[in-house]
Amino acid sequence: MVSQPKICRSYTPESWERICRRCGKCCLIKLEDEDTGEIYYTNVVCRYFDEEKMACSVYEKRCELVPSCLKLSPGNVDKLKWMPKTCAYRELFEKSPSPVHSTIKGRVVSERDVPEDELEDHIVDWEDL
Ligand code: SF4
Repeated sequence: MVSQPKICRSYTPESWERICRRCGKCCLIKLEDEDTGEIYYTNVVCRYFDEEKMACSVYEKRCELVPSCLKLSPGNVDKLKWMPKTCAYRELFEKSPSPVHSTIKGRVVSERDVPEDELEDHIVDWEDL
């Protein structure tokens, strides 16, 4: 049996939040293949993402407004395999820092501007995800 590594350090809410690099990658709309469970990333970003500030514009209410938005914590980061590989939390958990850090700025369209039935057309291969 392979045991999962755990994040042992304890974090205050503030120190946990400071780990985020505000790359915006986790705010991309993802589609799941119902048959295989495979996750596909699109170049469409959540309607509440503020690309100027590179931050969620409704951060405190995000889970109410977007029920599928998951709140990351030291207790669940190990389960979120769909998080981008270069996510600061995933790197911390997997102890696999990546040499290059990029953001989605200037590379996305807002969910507000894309009809739901066109999301599939926006699946892209993010090489730096
Ligand atoms: S992918 Fe990770 S580092 Fe990037 S914005 Fe999301 S939580 Fe922060």
